[in-house]
Amino acid sequence: MMEWLWTLVLVVVAFLGMEVFAWYAHKYIMHGWGWGWHKSHHESHHQPHLKNTGGVFEKNDLYVVVFSLVVIGLFAVGDLYWKPLMAIASGITLYGVVYSLFHDGMVHRRWPIRWQPKSGYLKRLVQAHRIHHAVRTREGTVSFGFLYAPDVRKLKKRLKQQQAASLAGARHDR
Ligand SMILES: [Zn+2]
Ligand SMILES: [Zn+2]
Repeated sequence: MMEWLWTLVLVVVAFLGMEVFAWYAHKYIMHGWGWGWHKSHHESHHQPHLKNTGGVFEKNDLYVVVFSLVVIGLFAVGDLYWKPLMAIASGITLYGVVYSLFHDGMVHRRWPIRWQPKSGYLKRLVQAHRIHHAVRTREGTVSFGFLYAPDVRKLKKRLKQQQAASLAGARHDR
């Protein structure tokens, strides 16, 4: 296969792989031992239904800083030792750009973009992430993906089950 085609394949695979990675990281790191940073995002004034009362940044943005540093490192290592790594780093960067436009721009309105999808897959994606933000606690949350979203009705059903389960758990703890 021609070299540019391999490059393209690596970029696409890295981009798609990032959604899988982001899902796991969101579920098991951010809603796990990394909740200390992510909590700010669930209490954030960047929720469209809350008034903008705080500053521009959230503690959760530190994740973006950390991931960016890692990607810069990947570019550097790729440039020095293994060029294909640069294609992978490009795919990750592309994911970051799309994630930022979608998650920060469309859902949380942190970019000066007013456009909101009225129908179709993009609307489902926004709704799915709003359902994620229906819960402000670490537990009982659903919908951890950013660019892939299951059916909204299924998510709502699962959210109800989770909340019932965590309420039962809380009662049990007392
Ligand atoms: Zn979250
Ligand atoms: Zn969010």
